[in-house]
Amino acid sequence: MRKDISTPQYTRSIIDKHKFTFKKSLGQNFLIDRNILDKIVSTAGVTSETGVIEIGPGIGSLTEQLAKSAKKVTAFEIDQRLIPILKDTLLDYPHVKVIHQDVLEANLHEVIEHEFKDVEDLMVVANLPYYVTTPIILKLLTERLPIRGIVVMIQKEVADRLAAEPGTKSYGSLSIAVQYYAVTKSEVKVPKTVFVPQPNVDSSVISLTLREKPPVDVDDEAFFFELVRASFGQRRKTLLNNLQNNLFTKEQKPEIEEALQSVGIDGKRRGEALSIEEFAHLSNALLALKR
Ligand code: SAM
Repeated sequence: MRKDISTPQYTRSIIDKHKFTFKKSLGQNFLIDRNILDKIVSTAGVTSETGVIEIGPGIGSLTEQLAKSAKKVTAFEIDQRLIPILKDTLLDYPHVKVIHQDVLEANLHEVIEHEFKDVEDLMVVANLPYYVTTPIILKLLTERLPIRGIVVMIQKEVADRLAAEPGTKSYGSLSIAVQYYAVTKSEVKVPKTVFVPQPNVDSSVISLTLREKPPVDVDDEAFFFELVRASFGQRRKTLLNNLQNNLFTKEQKPEIEEALQSVGIDGKRRGEALSIEEFAHLSNALLALKR
């Protein structure tokens, strides 16, 4: 029986055999800890009925553990040099397909339609390249893919932002954007020592379970997100100041104050103190003013 790809010795031998050199610019930090891989797979609830989209398989450490449990795995890898390596390391898993493409450019609806026709339970699972974590997560959420959820290893600081509650330092427009689409849960903090090469930052595994519908009623989604971003424009400024400066004009101050009052929100508060419900009420009240 062959050893797991993720054992430090086997990872090293694959790297040596293929004379692979890590590209920092592609966020290449490979996992060498089987316990963490098992934790990712179990958190994602992968069963023989589950289809998995993986982003950035690297040399296949996570892919291999996913393939042992999943019905099918389709993985996007941007680095051409890894394609022949994956062909070698994943030889025993014919239900794994590797697509050589930048996931940000992929038409995921089309891939799902094509690759997962016979799959009812679909998950995205990845040890994400840290330089593009946010765009990838936002793409997965905003494209409203037919997936159950996302389980990813990301930089701990970003995981904290995704799961942050109002009034905390990490809470910002990204927290709201993500929590609008999904229920977030930080699952486990991961030390740097489980990667080669070791990154400079700590990591976390986070799960995002997609909501069937948003937690709040918003009349105009685009305007809601615009309002959220504007409210966090300058974190030290009050909500009223941020709204005047970033979304409306100083001349509109009386109308903004009126809208704030109508939903019972004090304009002297800071954006970071408002809950997603309060942002929803405020965006519905301010919408007429924007039009
Ligand atoms: N899954 C492997 C593991 O856990 O050991 C490797 C994870 S490594 C953090 C990130 C991987 O994503 C690398 O293999 C890198 O080449 C790949 N990658 C980087 N940017 C990408 C992109 N935009 N689309 C697809 N893959 C990407």
